[in-house]
Amino acid sequence: MSELNQSNDDALIFMDEQSVEALNAQVAKASWRIMIIDDDPDVHSATMFALGNLEIQNRTLTFLHAYSANEAREILAREPDIAVILLDVVMEQEDAGLNLVNFVRKDLGMIDVRIILRTGQPGYAPEIDAIRDYDINDYKTKSELTRTKLYTTVTSAIRSYEQICSISANQRGLEFIVNASTELMSQKGLQNFSSGVLQQISVLLGRKVEGFVCNQIDEGKLASVISDLFVIATSSQFAYLSQKTADKIEDCSIQNLIQTSIDLRRNLYEQNFIVLHFENGTHKNLTVLLQTNIEVSELDKRLLEVFCSNISVGLNNVMLTSRLHQYAYFDPLTGLANRLKLLQTLAETLQSPLKDSSVLSLIDIDHFAETNDALGHQFGDALLCSVAKRLLDHFGTCCHLARVGGDTFALLGDQDQVTPQKIFTVFQHAFEVDHQEVQLSSTIGLIKLSGYDGGGSDALKDTNIALKRAKAHQRASHSYFTVDMGVEIRERVRMMHALRAAFENERLFVVYQPQIDMRTQTPVGAEALLRWKNENGQFVPPDQFIPIAEYSGLIVDIGEWVLRSACFELVHLHNLGFTEFKMAVNVSQAQFSHPQFLQSLEAALTDTRAPASCLELEITESMAMNDPEMLIKTLHNIKQLGVQISIDDFGTGFSSLSHLQKLNVDKLKIDRAFVNEINDKSGEGSIAKMIVQLSQSLNIKVIAEGVETKLQADTLMGFGCHLAQGYLYARPKTQLDLRAWLAQDPEQWKVM
Ligand code: C2E
Ligand code: CA
Ligand code: CA
Repeated sequence: MSELNQSNDDALIFMDEQSVEALNAQVAKASWRIMIIDDDPDVHSATMFALGNLEIQNRTLTFLHAYSANEAREILAREPDIAVILLDVVMEQEDAGLNLVNFVRKDLGMIDVRIILRTGQPGYAPEIDAIRDYDINDYKTKSELTRTKLYTTVTSAIRSYEQICSISANQRGLEFIVNASTELMSQKGLQNFSSGVLQQISVLLGRKVEGFVCNQIDEGKLASVISDLFVIATSSQFAYLSQKTADKIEDCSIQNLIQTSIDLRRNLYEQNFIVLHFENGTHKNLTVLLQTNIEVSELDKRLLEVFCSNISVGLNNVMLTSRLHQYAYFDPLTGLANRLKLLQTLAETLQSPLKDSSVLSLIDIDHFAETNDALGHQFGDALLCSVAKRLLDHFGTCCHLARVGGDTFALLGDQDQVTPQKIFTVFQHAFEVDHQEVQLSSTIGLIKLSGYDGGGSDALKDTNIALKRAKAHQRASHSYFTVDMGVEIRERVRMMHALRAAFENERLFVVYQPQIDMRTQTPVGAEALLRWKNENGQFVPPDQFIPIAEYSGLIVDIGEWVLRSACFELVHLHNLGFTEFKMAVNVSQAQFSHPQFLQSLEAALTDTRAPASCLELEITESMAMNDPEMLIKTLHNIKQLGVQISIDDFGTGFSSLSHLQKLNVDKLKIDRAFVNEINDKSGEGSIAKMIVQLSQSLNIKVIAEGVETKLQADTLMGFGCHLAQGYLYARPKTQLDLRAWLAQDPEQWKVM
């Protein structure tokens, strides 16, 4: 911010000096340049004779001559600062003159030069449209142009040329002020704007003008006495007044002048001083005092008036940005500071010794959304205002208070003040809105800034983490941020970004773990499992990244891609001759409940030409328990396609028998934990046995996962479970390894 202002300040000064120089150069220029374009040499000499020794506005005249339109084009293209062109309409062609005007205005872009058309015969008068469109100053027949007439015509053309030049210089300056003002903010903006005004007036009058700019202290009512005005910009001579009220002006006559201007609400032009009075819509006025030392010409006064009316636009812009600034830092509803402002204060606190004893807290109103929905937004707004007021009453004098979200307030202050107990007392009594009593509670997240090594926005985020923790734990509770919380969440966020990048950069891949018929010891299918090798070449375990993919919604796209990859591989294996081979694919809750899921499944099957009957979707038992209506419908639709369903991790949830029957699934997958129980130390695997019996009574298939030992395999077979997946038979394999593994001698699959 300060950098921005700095550069604009520089730009203002830079621009100003250049313009003053340019103007001085113009003033110093001895004469007005008049160009005569006529194919008749007599006209040239007659004109010179008529105007030659005259002075207009204290400057002599010099002449440029062209005897044809073509010659004129060449001269005009290289000669700047021509004030007036006296142009013959008919030269080489009847319309040579008008064509030349077109060339001057449009091609050369010379809009300042004044053009006087002359014609031999009255019949050759140009169309009125041409006069307007080409900004032709005057049109005269040559016989009309007596010496005096020619003089007055050229004089008025020169006057208007001079005026146009100043105005366009002035307009360039204005553009600059307006642009600068929109970029700058607030008081700082107004100050820059005001120094800009002083400098522009110097440019306008062509000499350095001393003066100052003041504005009224209070917004709302128009200043009525001079002490209501505050000096915001000064030239060097008035520097002593800077940031003081205008009644500190040493010169009483200036004080009186300003007072008169305030009273009359208009500009005043005095012998040595000018007072300019600006008013704008929001009743904020600005007064500019200029010390001119010499009397200002009528023309300059007129230009100043134009300048003033133009400058009001710029002033309005500055006022607008000031108000925007107000909006940028304050919450319009409660008038409290907003998030941005809090962040500023927080940054300052973190830089100061206050840091060691400060606490930041976020106060979230419990169930506010429900209240808002039930009683209406107007009521909700009023409720927020009374909470804000209550918080201000309690903490306004000792702490910084802000509204940082819909129903979330922030409190920053000393650790003795910002405590959960003190905050909770604010909510002890009911709030009254519209004669109704509303009892509210709040949940609080806090962070001790002492020793905290992050910046302001980190601290706010971390407090929010603590708040979320407290909310997840229990409403109306509080929680202090600990480093562990932050590490955990940041790690999750980091991983989410990394996962998204990995997916986009195709660093995810699918491996396939064979499923075996233990009786024949031959592979019957495989489960597709997702793998992620990060940029350091390390595998990130799916147990870590799958929950993040689910939480972030990434799983929808990733899962669809896994499904398609698995289908492609299935078709490939069928083509290699393993025509009975099945493919199992894991599907998460988020995928499954996505409205497009069925469509994407169908598309995957059609696009890859995978046979639906060889595809199996694994859903977890906990998913099977959620929202039974939706599930039954979706499962039904999936089964209509011919796709099989298996329930993963079976035994870890609580499915009832009747529920399972309704779901009409094809297979149960015994969770690894129950297979693990089958070992020579403790267990005989009673749960695994029960699951196998359950599948038999439901007349559906059963498979055991995580089979690692011969004992487990034999025991499971003894129960009547013939399908298995596990390290005993095969680890998950890449696509190429799987193909090679399947192609080998069947003896190799066997385990003794
Ligand atoms: P899951 O569906 O229960 O997958 C079986 C997990 O057991 C796999 O772990 C597999 O490598 C492992 N496993 C297989 N045999 C043995 C064994 O004999 N002993 C032991 N100790 N482990 C064995 P993985 O690949 O780490 O996958 C973990 C979980 O990640 C999966 O559990 C599944 O829930 C999820 N997952 C993996 N890929 C996907 C996917 O594409 N989509 C979805 N939604 N989830 C996936
Ligand atoms: Ca699985
Ligand atoms: Ca499993």
